[in-house]
Amino acid sequence: MEMDISLLVPILLGWLGGLFVNYASDVLPHTRRFSQPVCPNCQTPFSWADYLTLRACRNCGTRRSLRTWLVQILAVASFSYFWLFPPNVLGLPLSLIVLIYFGVIVVIDLEHRLILHPTSLFGAVLGLIVGTYIHGQANGWLTGIGLSVLGGLVGFGVMFILYQFGALIAKFRARKMQADDGEEALGGGDVYLLGVLGLMLGWPFIVNALVIGVLLGGLFSLIFLIGLLLRQRYTGEALMNFIPYGPYFIIGAFYLLFL
Ligand SMILES: [Zn+2]
Repeated sequence: MEMDISLLVPILLGWLGGLFVNYASDVLPHTRRFSQPVCPNCQTPFSWADYLTLRACRNCGTRRSLRTWLVQILAVASFSYFWLFPPNVLGLPLSLIVLIYFGVIVVIDLEHRLILHPTSLFGAVLGLIVGTYIHGQANGWLTGIGLSVLGGLVGFGVMFILYQFGALIAKFRARKMQADDGEEALGGGDVYLLGVLGLMLGWPFIVNALVIGVLLGGLFSLIFLIGLLLRQRYTGEALMNFIPYGPYFIIGAFYLLFL
């Protein structure tokens, strides 16, 4: 019985965490700051009471998005799971903060194909704390900081090289097609994201995250390509269509941190 009552804590915290992920994903891509949320359909500002109780827009009647509800449910489910089975490496409080951070990054990346600089900056601070905490427990804090920073440099560096390589290919394609479609296989934001994940995981775990992310990204690209071929929609253009890589690296980091 006691267990049932204590479960109310993660359910409530998870609901609040979900509200924050939704709020950040609603406003940051548009205003780059924590501004008043507006209806995506008619741009009428929400009152905070309406916004936080997930009401439909009072002006045009547009209901809240499917994503809003999905995030709320996933946040409550994952908070409850972490509450019952606390991740032993990272501990509960840091784990929940990392979870919210990953939520914001993934939702914005999937909806806008963007990794924002303010979230990367926040992530760098969080990453240094998490990485130092993980590596400092066994090796002492100074070594912990060193391994975290080394992981960050490796994540950033490897991604930076891949990004330059991708930019080179894009340039070559643009010259061939006489037009630049402005799309990149790997966005510049991914470079910062991998720096953040590198700080979090530290050396040498960032290498594992890179490998997992690239393999998952490649696998899903392959499935996507086969789907196009089967529907006979294959064009070079469709293949090169920008695929967000950020979520794959987050899956890799999530696996290494929590599973
Ligand atoms: Zn509206």
